[in-house]
Amino acid sequence: MKLVIFGPPGSGKGTYASRLKSELNIATISTGDIFREAVKQGTELGKRIKKYLDTGQLVPDETVIKAVRNRIAKPDCEKGFILDGFPRTVEQAKTLEKAVKIDVIIKLLVPKQIIIERLSNRRTCKSCGAIYNLRALKPEKEGICDKCGGPLIQRKDDTIPVIKERFQVFEKQTRPLMEYYESKVPFINVTCNDIDMPPEEAIEQIMKELKKLNLTRTSRSD
Ligand code: AMP
Repeated sequence: MKLVIFGPPGSGKGTYASRLKSELNIATISTGDIFREAVKQGTELGKRIKKYLDTGQLVPDETVIKAVRNRIAKPDCEKGFILDGFPRTVEQAKTLEKAVKIDVIIKLLVPKQIIIERLSNRRTCKSCGAIYNLRALKPEKEGICDKCGGPLIQRKDDTIPVIKERFQVFEKQTRPLMEYYESKVPFINVTCNDIDMPPEEAIEQIMKELKKLNLTRTSRSD
């Protein structure tokens, strides 16, 4: 199964992708995580793209496509994968289409106020990348990752001016993608109008819809 999680910054793509990964037992590919790791490691790629991440701009298509191609070629993607944060432009979608058939797009619909509240309360584990929220998804110990004990930090691009920029980029460059996919790929729409809605509720809804589409064959429960 190959699925794309689509939504504006802060709509919960990363959280849902990591939960669906355990439900479906397939790989997740987060281009944001790949790029943040490259910046953290100080690789050539990391040095080239840091400015885009820090300012909320999109990394050039060519670079993104290369990174995704390399990632998809890894053995853990053989059974399928969840794409989180990719594609983000029509150009990226067209290139993806040549290599892979996407089975379904999970589209997250979240009001802007909730997103701003979420992003400004988001904390990420510096070591393993796990995502927390100081309101809806608190760690057991303040400032410490439940999974690996690493320190929780606020992403540089989760500050108000960069959040605003990321929204603009989303509206201009990423939203038009939905028109491109319309009538090509089935959609599962997930609405979240409540900041305190636990991620499990959305996951349950997504799993039900995937079953209806007969897309849960790789699930652990099957
Ligand atoms: P994310 O964690 O998905 O919000 O991504 C963080 C940042 O990584 C974005 O603001 C972009 O600078 C870059 N990025 C991630 N995915 C893409 C993509 N598909 N195309 C271009 N830039 C991307």
